[in-house]
Amino acid sequence: MAGIEIAELSTVYPNGVRAVDGLDLTVADGEFFALLGPSGCGKTTLLRTMAGLEQASEGAVRIGDRDVTRLDPGARRVAMVFQDYALFPHMTVAENIAYPLRVRRMSKVSQRDAAERTSAGLSLGALLDRRPGQLSGGQQQRVALARAIAVEADVLLLDEPLSNLDARLRLEARTFLKKLQRDLGLTTVFVTHDQAEALALADRIAVMESGSIRQLGSPKEVFQRP
Ligand code: ADP
Ligand code: ADP
Repeated sequence: MAGIEIAELSTVYPNGVRAVDGLDLTVADGEFFALLGPSGCGKTTLLRTMAGLEQASEGAVRIGDRDVTRLDPGARRVAMVFQDYALFPHMTVAENIAYPLRVRRMSKVSQRDAAERTSAGLSLGALLDRRPGQLSGGQQQRVALARAIAVEADVLLLDEPLSNLDARLRLEARTFLKKLQRDLGLTTVFVTHDQAEALALADRIAVMESGSIRQLGSPKEVFQRP
């Protein structure tokens, strides 16, 4: 388990856009943390830079004691769930969950074990042989979560975790996300443009603007009127 310490981080795209601009942020070990802000403020880029999907131009992202900007994505112990879940449609639920382990050449038995272990807490046990097309949006999201945590990670990153779900499934997804964070003690950072979503889930919220943090605090502190 580990907290996150981001120091003077910048991510500049090849076209010159400074999507993350000298950003500092500390997330405590086991915290459920929201990055809130309007479209284009740099939330997704920050998440992708933490995961190693975009390269940091300057600064550091320390998880535990290690600056992960120097590590390959696979070595970072960071799990990310994408907004559209990015499941493989031709694979079963079990194969989707085990995919990162297959890539790491773990045995078939360990793959099946991991799929069964991670699916249990996410109520996917009965769905292991289905394909993503036969699942609800909420179930698909849980498969994406199970796949993310099948590889032992210290940090879980979620891109707009509730935005593709209808109102009823949102409530259910909140419960699962909270449970996952509690049961595994995972430091969790999620991105949203929705204040209500940040309020409902987060221990603390950072409000981003133009690539840096404008405001930081508990939901009460951030949304309290002066
Ligand atoms: P958010 O997630 O808050 O909507 P993004 O991180 O997607 O913000 O985008 C931040 C800024 O970086 C925006 O100005 C966006 O247009 C720009 N941007 C995002 N992705 C790329 C990219 N691949 N190449 C160039 N600019 C990008
Ligand atoms: P989000 O707000 O969730 O990042 P977007 O619709 O802004 O989603 O971006 C969708 C995709 O387009 C992303 O892969 C992002 O990197 C890319 N993108 C966004 N803005 C730009 C840009 N100005 N130039 C090039 N690619 C971009």
